[in-house]
Amino acid sequence: MKDLRANGNPIIRIRNLGKRFGTNRVLNGIDFDVFPGQVVVIIGPSGSGKSTFLRCCNGLEQAEEGDIEICGSALVNQGKMLPDVELNELRKNVGMVFQSFNLFPHLSVLDNICVAPQMLRNLKKTEARAQAVKLLGKVGLAAKAEAMPNSLSGGQKQRVAIARALAMEPLVMLFDEPTSALDPELVGEVLRVMKILAQDGMTMIVVTHEMAFAQEVADVVVVMDGGVIIEAGPPATIFGAPREERTKTFLQSVL
Ligand code: ADP
Ligand code: MG
Repeated sequence: MKDLRANGNPIIRIRNLGKRFGTNRVLNGIDFDVFPGQVVVIIGPSGSGKSTFLRCCNGLEQAEEGDIEICGSALVNQGKMLPDVELNELRKNVGMVFQSFNLFPHLSVLDNICVAPQMLRNLKKTEARAQAVKLLGKVGLAAKAEAMPNSLSGGQKQRVAIARALAMEPLVMLFDEPTSALDPELVGEVLRVMKILAQDGMTMIVVTHEMAFAQEVADVVVVMDGGVIIEAGPPATIFGAPREERTKTFLQSVL
């Protein structure tokens, strides 16, 4: 197995992360590091805080306790979030893909991918288009550059969303149940693209119920329940010899 820690400092470092919605304590005392090139898969029952955790990692939700560092820069420092200007800078390093694709419906596939790099990375239009064409090739959609989103299948939309996130050249990609909204026959094409990304060395945190993907691609599987990490380890351990009763119960419900 590759020694990920040998690569140096974590891309994401989280200490004692806490988050409440009103009186509902949703994340509690989360400690976690994600190292360069690592694929972390987060599993756990619905409502356990997985999405909130991911959203805290790119500042979409405000954490109230603890620290989050992205590549050594504080996104959250003792429960205090960066000011907006700096937050936006830091966020460029963190790509996110949602369950619901969130493409711009009035823009072509190519323009969906070009908007952010032109606005936020100051790429010229020709540069942004050249990069978008390359990324579309990577996700297997070179032929769809001029298509409008509503003419695509869900699997194609999600692959465009992945290309769009990659166009910002992020240091880490967050995926929140990227295949949960797809018809079963379209899940594989999206997972295949994610697997290629992982093989290319992209650092990834993936929330998913696709246990076969977790077994095959994850370096670390994190099990969440009730807003805490109940255990984490290599897939062989989590799936083969889980330590916690709650992990066993959860796995029985999904496998
Ligand atoms: P998961 O992704 O594991 O299903 P979530 O992070 O979506 O879990 O939710 C964790 C808890 O936080 C749930 O109890 C949910 O109801 C609550 N929650 C999530 N988002 C909000 C919100 N915007 N406002 C209030 N409560 C929320
Ligand atoms: Mg969720």
